[in-house]
Amino acid sequence: MKILISNDDGFQAPGLVALYEAIKDLGDVEVVAPEHNNSAKSNALTLHQPLYVHQGANGFRYVNGTPADCVHIALTGLLDYRPDLVLSGINNGANMGDDTIYSGTVGAAMEGYLFGIPAVAFSQVEKGWSHLDAAAGKARELVRQLIAQRLHERPAPFLLNVNIPNRPADSLGAFEVCRLGRRHAAEKVISQPSPRGDTMYWIGAAGAAKDGAPGTDFHATAQGRVAVTPLQVDLTEHDTLAPWAQTFSKAPLS
Ligand code: MN
Repeated sequence: MKILISNDDGFQAPGLVALYEAIKDLGDVEVVAPEHNNSAKSNALTLHQPLYVHQGANGFRYVNGTPADCVHIALTGLLDYRPDLVLSGINNGANMGDDTIYSGTVGAAMEGYLFGIPAVAFSQVEKGWSHLDAAAGKARELVRQLIAQRLHERPAPFLLNVNIPNRPADSLGAFEVCRLGRRHAAEKVISQPSPRGDTMYWIGAAGAAKDGAPGTDFHATAQGRVAVTPLQVDLTEHDTLAPWAQTFSKAPLS
């Protein structure tokens, strides 16, 4: 079993260390992660500057790029083997609902998935790393379950998005397979004067849950359960293909 781990919080992040320590005995495990925090970088690739790979004192390799860069480089030349599984995280904060579009944690996992490798993104719901050991325990449990059922050997890859409430192990609920919820639009941008008199803008916080109904990741984690959402990458709105085809089949206006 060969496992590649990345993240978006950077190669020294406690969540990455905890994930590595929790699963390192389940196979040959290697870490290739960003040098710095790359949260909200989604699937971005660095095309206009060179990337360098170095090895940290903790043995992890780090890249001066994005989460997707790390996995991309690992899979296309850095590693001399093809991993059986790509893991990402554990992220410092939730990646639920619309977060998955922006998330670098999901982006790293998705890069593996796009290369045909099963992948799992792990996040803790609250920032600050409280009960990280319990979250890492859950991540280990999930990976063991996948390996035991040989799911990584299926012909089609899968992409799982996992959100773990910050709770001690004895009060963490079971895995709940659920859909993504939806968030309200993000908070207002924050503007303030810079020391040199310009106006600086800071992207505001993510919105609160708008759809946190039963069956969503927001609901599952609010109940203390571990939300597991299988993701797909096809953004096509299949239900509206027919009406749009109708629209564009009409004679063009002259
Ligand atoms: Mn992050």
